[in-house]
Amino acid sequence: MSEDVRHFVCPNCNSVNRIPRDKNARGAKCGRCHQPIFTGRPIPASAESFATHIQRNDIPVLVDFWAQWCGPCKAMAPVYERIAAELEPEIRLLKVDTEAHPELAARHNIRSIPTLILFQNGSEIARQAGAMDAESLRSWLRRNAASSFSAFQSS
Ligand SMILES: [Zn+2]
Repeated sequence: MSEDVRHFVCPNCNSVNRIPRDKNARGAKCGRCHQPIFTGRPIPASAESFATHIQRNDIPVLVDFWAQWCGPCKAMAPVYERIAAELEPEIRLLKVDTEAHPELAARHNIRSIPTLILFQNGSEIARQAGAMDAESLRSWLRRNAASSFSAFQSS
């Protein structure tokens, strides 16, 4: 029973935190830096934090590959923020600025932006090119990550 924990990566210091499955991680603080593990907002990722987040979180990690000059990316940003507030701590939302981190975009074969990639345990499980509204994004997540989402299992 005591081993029934989930791992969550702190968005502030990138430490891996262990949290009991029956505790709501939404209000949890990082054991190292004492900052909230979930902030209700997408987390800008760097090359270092990206790998830790997609490999060490025991929850699906959704990544928005975007750029400042991209109109559809800007249009989708508020939707993405809203989904983060809705679905944390069942999912972690990251943002990768493809101008600042072209190596991450190249490694994941990003051909157009915005592109969303859903990772589970370090592996890509779904990808979507082009902006989505909130309803489309929810149903896309429901289709692709339903087994991971207790938040979706009641609906
Ligand atoms: Zn921390």
